[in-house]
Amino acid sequence: MQTAPNQPIECVPTIVVEDDRTGLSVETLKRAFQDNLFYIQGKFAKIATQNDYYMALAYTVRDRLLRRWLTTAETYTHQGVRTVAYLSAEFLMGPHLGNNLISLGIYDEAKQAIGELGLDFDALLEQEEEPGLGNGGLGRLAACYLDSMATLDIPSIGYGIRYEFGIFDQDIRDGWQFEITDKWLRYGNPWEIARPEWSVEVKLGGHTETYMDEMTSRQRVRWVPAEVVMGIPYDTPILGYKTNTATTLRLWSAAAAESFDFAAFNSGDYFRAVLQKTVSETLTKVLYPNDESFQGKKLRLGQQIFFVSCSLQDMILILTRQGIPLDQFHEKFAIQLNDTHPAIAVAELMRLLMDEHAFEWDAAWSITQKTLAYTNHTLLPEALERWGLGLFGTLLPRHLEIIYEINSRFLEEIRLKFPGDNDRLNRMSLIDEAGERHVRMAHLACVGSHAINGVAALHSELLKQDVLRDFYELYPEKFSNKTNGVTPRRFMVLSNPRLTKLITSKIGDGWIKHLDDLRKLEAFVEDADFRQQWRQIKFDIKQDLADYIKQANGIDVDPASLFDIQAKRIHEYKRQHLDVLHIITLYNRIKANPDVDITPRTFIFGGKAAPGYYMAKLIIKLVNSVADVVNNDPDVRDRIKVVFLKDYNVKFAQRVYPAADLSEQISLAGKEASGTGNMKFSMNGSLTIGTLDGANVEIREEVGAENFFLFGLTTPEVYALKAQGYNPWQYYNSNPELKAAIDRIASGGFSNGDTNLFNALVSTLLYKDDYLLLADYQSYVDCQDGVSRAYRDQDHWTRLSILNSARMGKFSSDRSIREYCKDIWHVKPVAIELKEYVQAGAGLE
Ligand SMILES: *Cc1c(COP(=O)(O)O)cnc(C)c1O
Repeated sequence: MQTAPNQPIECVPTIVVEDDRTGLSVETLKRAFQDNLFYIQGKFAKIATQNDYYMALAYTVRDRLLRRWLTTAETYTHQGVRTVAYLSAEFLMGPHLGNNLISLGIYDEAKQAIGELGLDFDALLEQEEEPGLGNGGLGRLAACYLDSMATLDIPSIGYGIRYEFGIFDQDIRDGWQFEITDKWLRYGNPWEIARPEWSVEVKLGGHTETYMDEMTSRQRVRWVPAEVVMGIPYDTPILGYKTNTATTLRLWSAAAAESFDFAAFNSGDYFRAVLQKTVSETLTKVLYPNDESFQGKKLRLGQQIFFVSCSLQDMILILTRQGIPLDQFHEKFAIQLNDTHPAIAVAELMRLLMDEHAFEWDAAWSITQKTLAYTNHTLLPEALERWGLGLFGTLLPRHLEIIYEINSRFLEEIRLKFPGDNDRLNRMSLIDEAGERHVRMAHLACVGSHAINGVAALHSELLKQDVLRDFYELYPEKFSNKTNGVTPRRFMVLSNPRLTKLITSKIGDGWIKHLDDLRKLEAFVEDADFRQQWRQIKFDIKQDLADYIKQANGIDVDPASLFDIQAKRIHEYKRQHLDVLHIITLYNRIKANPDVDITPRTFIFGGKAAPGYYMAKLIIKLVNSVADVVNNDPDVRDRIKVVFLKDYNVKFAQRVYPAADLSEQISLAGKEASGTGNMKFSMNGSLTIGTLDGANVEIREEVGAENFFLFGLTTPEVYALKAQGYNPWQYYNSNPELKAAIDRIASGGFSNGDTNLFNALVSTLLYKDDYLLLADYQSYVDCQDGVSRAYRDQDHWTRLSILNSARMGKFSSDRSIREYCKDIWHVKPVAIELKEYVQAGAGLE
């Protein structure tokens, strides 16, 4: 008889680890690489492609982290440890290979091994298709947090969606963005392991009915779905830096539920059953490519309930397998909701506990609130998720009932605390009653969580004062700030090996795990020799980027010029077009006086626009149009160059951040929740020009006001200006340089005389200007003039550059994770001991 495929069968519990199978020496790596090429890829050198070589190397590395991964899983299972479950609809991981080599501490050995085999190591790293399962900062934050949790030995698991197509690849055609499907799984993914034996089922649609539970003589609710979809987990190891801990990223892929096929098969409708498969699989087909804007599509809500339900059921199964009763759920799991995308977890956990596991309301509610915590990521009203009741009730009838019940109890609580305050009830209700009725997901998250946090000090204050003010007044104890961070392993060690080597030669390598140690670099700021080395490294990196630009865009740029970079999603609030107005201003100055004294600059842009966001796409077209004119005008004499580099993603980020002299962080104050690009630039020795927005505020505090180029209105000034009635024309009419810059666009100066092309952009600025570009223009241009002056003193600039890196310790994601652990999760590190069957020599130095 066949055994059920999901039942574990114990055998003799010995794992034989042979020295030459997973050893770390160069010779062993070479042998393993050749074995994998032959036995896994089924190729030998004569017919192997670059991708075969990449895969052979990836499997060689994966073999070397599997022991840590399995030991970690076994330790957690055995000890029943308290675990962080990080729920995120996006994980923007970037390529795994280089990062895993760094974490294992065998980067140099692998490089040597591959070199000795006559292959180009860097080309193999480049070969990896990055998993682009996120839009931008939010997804990248989740990836940095996984790295830090593993590095800090925090028991943790990341739960998300295995999109078949991640964020689109961006091409530029005739200056416009063109989207190409991201077929990242085309040639296979060596990092994931499918675990179909741990699949779960998710219900969708249908209706609910009540019934009498004979066992307990209680009325209970049963959900009769219209559809059932299967969730199959795919696990990817997340190895911490030089530690034995390897945690898991578990991504869910949708498939047709077998039971449904079966029913249709019996009724003879074989083809309908098979076709149903495609419908189910559509659920995890593609990532929605909108950043910071909500799109109320049913499929998207389907994705959310799908991955949340799979993940919660998975946690319940983990406890069940360990024999831990579900009333301890909140003791074993701390669930973090990365924005409201997984906020349906509030209703789903209630449903699972009550409907599937017979909990009563109060007990289920207590567990839910103690388990969940919510991170808010945005101040933009258009980004707040609100689902129309019709759509919501059709897809999730049972969840809607539960939300109504949560709401009625919640509103009662408010009535008691604020008697007679009907406005407050309307403002706080989980249901928005104005116009078409909606479920407010942020409100659901706030009510269902024991902790609510913003992602930078300013942002957390604005949540309390503004966006979530009512909730702060009701539950002040729930609120805290957790300023974002980024992992120095990927964004310094991996992406900037030259700077890493120089820093380590001066202060040792302790900073890689304790980023505050970078402060020790301050002792070398007055060392002329050190400054010279620092400057030379920056120059060499810029030279590499210049070579890349030449190859990618065919533009010659001078690595001695100031590299002024704005790389992030294209969005009006981020104000790429303010950067463009500055460029046009410099261009106008040159046209007015070709001999004007200008500090040579290379303006580099990168970023994707949401496919349906016309204004963002027009901004890309404008950058490219300005580039065409400026780069080819002989009057400019190559003193300024403009480059739009296509396809901004993690690989691109790793190439570009280290090459910046100046980082553009110029969002309108009060709009950027935190930003993390700002941190990555500064760590790599770039200076920042920025507003007092998001984490810029804290970066400036850390590096010192004298090392930061500050401009623009403050958040209170923005509020005041808007309250008094903002009129962009006033700025346009009274500022000749501003007027000239806008007029050059409007009059067709960058569109061969076509006055129509950029009309939408120009008239938005003149008639609306929601993001106050015109109000901030003069302050920005003055500040940029200061940048140009400062850059002329190269030695002084280098001092500022060094100090920027040296003072970025706070912005390691390790610091953020420590704060989450202490204040919200109450999870402690658990050291992983590799068992004695691990041979000597395979440990870490
Ligand atoms: C860091 C990062 C971001 C976030 O950039 P911001 O400047 O904070 O908006 C977006 N995309 C990628 C690929 C990143 O690495």
